[in-house]
Amino acid sequence: MIARQLSSNPIRKSQVAFVFVFVLPTTRCLAHCEFCFYETGHSERVEAVDFVEPLDGALEALLDQGLQQVIISGGEPLLAPTLPDLLALLADKMIHLLLLSHGELLDEQRLEQLEEATVDDITISALDVGQQLRETVHRIMFHSRYTPTLLTCLNRANVGQVPGLLEFSTHRNLPHLFTPVHVPREAACHDKYSLRGLDDGEWEQLVRTLEPWAAASDSAFYLGMMRDFYRDMPVHPGFCPMGTRGLVIDADGSVYPCFHRHDLGAGNLLVDPWEQIQANLEHKGKALIGAPCFGEHCLSMFAGIQQ
Ligand code: SF4
Repeated sequence: MIARQLSSNPIRKSQVAFVFVFVLPTTRCLAHCEFCFYETGHSERVEAVDFVEPLDGALEALLDQGLQQVIISGGEPLLAPTLPDLLALLADKMIHLLLLSHGELLDEQRLEQLEEATVDDITISALDVGQQLRETVHRIMFHSRYTPTLLTCLNRANVGQVPGLLEFSTHRNLPHLFTPVHVPREAACHDKYSLRGLDDGEWEQLVRTLEPWAAASDSAFYLGMMRDFYRDMPVHPGFCPMGTRGLVIDADGSVYPCFHRHDLGAGNLLVDPWEQIQANLEHKGKALIGAPCFGEHCLSMFAGIQQ
């Protein structure tokens, strides 16, 4: 989704110009997926603060400069006490609003709230074709105006579910994203979940299964990138949207050019004036042009990118 907007954007790749921002109102989640960045220790959960007021000024400045989309993420954003205020703020902005949720908390009341708050789209987690996914999708499709996008975090434990997941989304005409989980090699659950554990035959089978999806969703480049990466072939995207087109506002108010580059922190909404934060972002984001820090942990950011 992000990539499609970017690919039609005339901004030069050598420029830092923000068109989307991830806003994380909380890093808490109830799902505790073992392979999650927060569970494996790749990322640290932070204490959430209320940054809605300073966010207003930041968004106004970014909107003037071409911001197109706010992606509300987490953790599970529906757990954030500040979510109603955040949505009320965002409802006043002429901007595309996307909410990423695990999905289990999306009851009819929440769906109504999201509609009232003018959230444009929702993406929910789809790890397997279980009863929970069926019920969640049914609720969303028949009790709201949303057509949810499914997000499958591909891992060694659920590759067998891919045909069923594809059948599920195709049958309902639902957009579907597949992104590999990143499990650090030192994590106790690495062998259980990392796609590195698939043998050649399993890879061949997975790619063959995903090819129709990739062709239908302009994801052929991405699927090839994923396959080559895990088959230890040379892969480098040459461009990364993070830090040049996108930024992250973490639950504690900290602002980063990328989820994975906390070493490039640009300031905190509660402490620093936005002008200073943005100057830092633009300066530090230049270090990310050309994606010098690309690795397995970044693959999910490239879903949908065409080259
Ligand atoms: S290449 Fe990876 S670590 Fe570097 S900015 Fe992009 S997503 Fe972040």
